[in-house]
Amino acid sequence: MRRATVLCGMIAVGALSLGVAAFQPPAQQGPKVVEVEKVKDNLFMLKGGGGNTAVFVTANGVTVVDAKNPGWGQPILDKIKELTPKPVTLLINTHTHGDHVSGNVEFPATVDIVVQENTKTNMEKMPIFKESGGKGMAKRTFKDKMTLGSGKDRVDLYYFGRGHTNGDAWIVFPELRVVHAGDIFSGKNLPLLDTNNGGSGVEIGDTLAKAHDGIKGVDTIITGHSTLMTWNDLAEYAQFNKDFLRDVRAAATGGKAADDVAGTWKIADKYKGYTIQDARLKTNVQVVYKEVGK
Ligand SMILES: [Zn+2]
Repeated sequence: MRRATVLCGMIAVGALSLGVAAFQPPAQQGPKVVEVEKVKDNLFMLKGGGGNTAVFVTANGVTVVDAKNPGWGQPILDKIKELTPKPVTLLINTHTHGDHVSGNVEFPATVDIVVQENTKTNMEKMPIFKESGGKGMAKRTFKDKMTLGSGKDRVDLYYFGRGHTNGDAWIVFPELRVVHAGDIFSGKNLPLLDTNNGGSGVEIGDTLAKAHDGIKGVDTIITGHSTLMTWNDLAEYAQFNKDFLRDVRAAATGGKAADDVAGTWKIADKYKGYTIQDARLKTNVQVVYKEVGK
């Protein structure tokens, strides 16, 4: 019953967004296999079961970024035990979606949980944290920037504005020159714009550019759902989103119908390896039209 409720919530949101990868409901059957990709000696990307999870092994404990779909918290914790005997002390969520925060409820109650302040507000609306009696909810928040730990173990959290949601955190590991970007950069695709949680098609390009300009000393990006990317990939992705907005805004101003734009818009040749789903294209055009008052 409890699982069904969570699932229904996720499907409802997914349907609103016309069914997209970031909202895929959790698999009902089969073993939960967590795949490990080593990013640096003490930083791992855990794949499967929802968004990519980062595991950062510090001197005194383990910092985890994102906890996947319902039922995947324990498999994450089990996999971490294979990597290090150190206890998990800190969990950070990049944003509110069920495929990034649901596993939180399976983490020990002693673990500190930190999110951007709008994400905490969004998480408070999620049934899974009502059913858990608040276990797994954020304990601390930040607004624009927060630093946790020091020296080689330092983690910097940033918020640069609305995009995928209104609480997309960028989690930087300065010593390793790596950032976890979450779903504001889920991969080379048209972004999912979750307007129910404050996402914005008008602002996402600028937000991505602000992150690219504002974060220094990073060369590797852990994406929300794709492979590792480079800092240049982020610059390109920011420009791609700005180009999309420019095209759609021009069409809206010129009086073109939203469906016509969705039916005719083509990605520029310079963007290699991008996936453009028709349904996402249609939704994102509609989101921008609504935001610009058309
Ligand atoms: Zn998401």
